[in-house]
Amino acid sequence: MILVGLTGGIGSGKSTVSAALAQRGAVVVDADAIAREVQQPGSPVIAALAERFGSHIVQADGNLDRAALAAIAFADADALKALNAIVHPAIGNEINSRVMAQVATDHVVVLDIPLLTENPREGLQGKIVVDVSEATQVERLVRYRGFDEADARARIGKQATREQRLEGATWVVDNSGDLDALVPQVDALWAALTALPQLPADFEMPQPKRRDADQSDRKSE
Ligand code: ATP
Repeated sequence: MILVGLTGGIGSGKSTVSAALAQRGAVVVDADAIAREVQQPGSPVIAALAERFGSHIVQADGNLDRAALAAIAFADADALKALNAIVHPAIGNEINSRVMAQVATDHVVVLDIPLLTENPREGLQGKIVVDVSEATQVERLVRYRGFDEADARARIGKQATREQRLEGATWVVDNSGDLDALVPQVDALWAALTALPQLPADFEMPQPKRRDADQSDRKSE
């Protein structure tokens, strides 16, 4: 297995680049998708949240009432800690098991983690940063995601800066152009990734050291 991280600001094109890598044969482990999956109706995470915060945080259809949960968690530091202590390990364990399922293969595993700069991880052989200007982020969030401009800017403002992200980059994908402009970059990236050494079959994922503060800023929320 070859194991790398992929990150970028909100709306920078992480999913687009991940999909292009998947087309070339990468196994993509998508932290956002996993975060949604572990909070599906009927999941142990929802049960634990309901036990801690009350059944009113679950809607009639079994989905989490995110607004009700946010109202509790963001008003009280202990509640936020408790929320993170339930949700983060569930996400971490699932990421871990998806990666470890690939350990004895020769696949390139791409861990797509939106907040990888904010929450660094050890054990990766390198970090792909999808880079765009803030203006492009805002424009795409408004055009494709239905954000209003102020909300888009506020979300971007809560994340690491472009410079902080680039500082830790092993490879940078410039997504300021059109989709065609990504193709040669992803081809070159894929060549670099597949040239990395294989990790040993007994590789173990170091567990991330998370901060207590809530780091969620996901499109699922
Ligand atoms: P999020 O942070 O919300 O998970 P993301 O970083 O995964 O977003 P994408 O979903 O890949 O970003 O891209 C955001 C939007 O911009 C999508 O609608 C996508 O189709 C569009 N997009 C991505 N790259 C380009 C590009 N080069 N040109 C035009 N549109 C693009």
